[in-house]
Amino acid sequence: MATGKIGVTTENIFPVIKKFLYSDHEIFLRELVSNAIDATQKLKTLASFGEFKGELGELDVKVSIDKEAGTLTISDHGIGMDADDVNKYINQIAFSGAEEFLEKYKDTANSIIGHFGLGFYSAFMVSKKVEIRSLSYKEGAKGVQWVCDGSPEYEMSEIDKSERGTDIILYIDDDSKEFLEQARIDTLLKKYCRFLPVPVISGKEQEWKDGKYVDTDKDKVINATEPLWTRKPADLTDEDYLKFYHELRPGEEDPMFWIHLNVDYPFNLTGILYFPKIKNNIDIQRNRIDLYCNQVFVTDQVEGVVPEFMMLMQGVIDSPDIPLNVSRSYLQADQQVKKISSYISKKVAEKLDKMFKADRKEFEKKWDDIEVFIKYGMLTDEKFYDAAKKFFLLKDVNDNYYTLEEYRKLVESTQTDKEGTVIYLYASDKTAQYSYISGAEEKGYNVLLMNGQLDQHVIGLLESKLEKTRFVRVDSDTPERLISREEDKKSDLSALQAEMLTTIFRTQLPEVKDVNFIVEYSALSEKDAPAVITQNEMMRRMKDMAAMQPGMNFYGQMPDMYSLVVNTEQPAVKRILEEAEKKVGDEVKPLFEAQKQDEKDETKVKEAREKEESIIKDFAAGEPVVKQIIDLALLQSGLLKGEALTAFIKRSVSLL
Ligand code: ADP
Repeated sequence: MATGKIGVTTENIFPVIKKFLYSDHEIFLRELVSNAIDATQKLKTLASFGEFKGELGELDVKVSIDKEAGTLTISDHGIGMDADDVNKYINQIAFSGAEEFLEKYKDTANSIIGHFGLGFYSAFMVSKKVEIRSLSYKEGAKGVQWVCDGSPEYEMSEIDKSERGTDIILYIDDDSKEFLEQARIDTLLKKYCRFLPVPVISGKEQEWKDGKYVDTDKDKVINATEPLWTRKPADLTDEDYLKFYHELRPGEEDPMFWIHLNVDYPFNLTGILYFPKIKNNIDIQRNRIDLYCNQVFVTDQVEGVVPEFMMLMQGVIDSPDIPLNVSRSYLQADQQVKKISSYISKKVAEKLDKMFKADRKEFEKKWDDIEVFIKYGMLTDEKFYDAAKKFFLLKDVNDNYYTLEEYRKLVESTQTDKEGTVIYLYASDKTAQYSYISGAEEKGYNVLLMNGQLDQHVIGLLESKLEKTRFVRVDSDTPERLISREEDKKSDLSALQAEMLTTIFRTQLPEVKDVNFIVEYSALSEKDAPAVITQNEMMRRMKDMAAMQPGMNFYGQMPDMYSLVVNTEQPAVKRILEEAEKKVGDEVKPLFEAQKQDEKDETKVKEAREKEESIIKDFAAGEPVVKQIIDLALLQSGLLKGEALTAFIKRSVSLL
């Protein structure tokens, strides 16, 4: 028997491992099973090169619990180790400045394990003693046993071992007894080893007998050794992909489509990404892509590995080139990872482009379900925007779809304003903005539907990307003024008439909570409504943005500003103005002029203004049609509610 000291510079490496790796104790199993798999794969490789000529035999890896002895054993039939190997690979852990290193990376156990070849030593997180029993594949090799109780001292001796391979026997610590429970081990194996390339056996298959589950003779295999992503796309059917999806995400609806990733240059990466149906809710659960390294589960925290917007997808990515130590900051800085991320982004864009070109109608059908991905991608990834602008679709209120280029052609001639800006009209709510939409359509304009969660941002993006383009919501002005033209008809009211008309309407406006109104007038067409409510595009955007972003309270708290635009061409409006001129015109005129002449004398001006206003107000109050016109406009834009609505109905009845 030989004894020795494990070659680390720090005496107390094991207590340190235990202390810092506390939260991730369970990964010891992943590490040990991975080692067993590696040893098995190495043997297969040697055999394929003819360097190992013996019988391969059963190559499975077995995880077994002996409750009485308090041990958990991981056994393989891989290449095994002889005394030299144990010395080299187990005793000499190349390690310097261990404590300093642990201090630096203490937040992620993963970053230590793997990075510094501490994989095997993670066994000490859960064990008071660890034993290795191994027989190398080499001809004439002798069995070796290595025992260590967690102090830096170990014992090594020669043993009789007839079967090639390695047993790692863990004497489980008192505070880690959970790892002697079959159910716990099975859960862990399912999590980390589900897709390992060598069968992993844990316990026995069970059957229902005499009112309870009992073990059968059959070994229970935990894993699928050839998961779908490792197979050739050409050999797979849609059913295969769907079946695999449902294995990954039980209970979910069928995904819309998927992408099978397969690269070997400049890095290795395989995987399948599924596009799930996203319903309305942008607040989507993240972490739905699992990251594997050679079929070993690493993490489902893939921020940084896949582009931000692809977090909406589901599936698996497998790459031996992604470092196992997936501490977030490390990943984000890693050049390799950046390349992977942009590769995936490119692949997704290619796939979408292919779908678009292959079957436009089908693509349009899917659009409402996939637009969130595409819009999110365009907003967060410049390169993706460039690729996506070819297949990005705008949808109008009549469910027609256009590419950006097509839409430009459609509206350029009809919707360019006098400054040469092309105005893209849009609605955010087809029902609420119905009358504005039809108003715009009557003028021959096209109206887009922009009612998605990201559309406010998409509008901003497109305005910055497309040349001379502005988005204007249909209810932000009267149809005539949505797109301003040279030949816009001017109202031919005199200053006095204008003052009278706006005062008539202003004095009759109802109080609406948190809403301020401005009264304007405009020469719309005779057939148009006598008055319409509009909301300034810029003001509304400010408020919308404020609602989405904290810290913009100033805009959020401002009342809503609406304009009541009175149509001076409409007969009822004309009549009211004529009536007013007839009844109070003579009284109002001197007061109006006094305000101009006595400009210097503030009190006099104020007096005149108040008097004028009160005369007009009295007149307006006696004209029920004024209130009726206002209420109709409010009703049309959804602002007439409660008491005001009841008053409107009563008045309407009495007018009949
Ligand atoms: P790593 O796997 O990162 O190299 P480990 O500490 O887990 O670090 O293992 C160190 C080495 O010990 C392995 O590289 C391998 O050579 C050897 N080893 C560990 N487990 C086994 C095993 N089950 N069979 C054969 N060799 C093993």
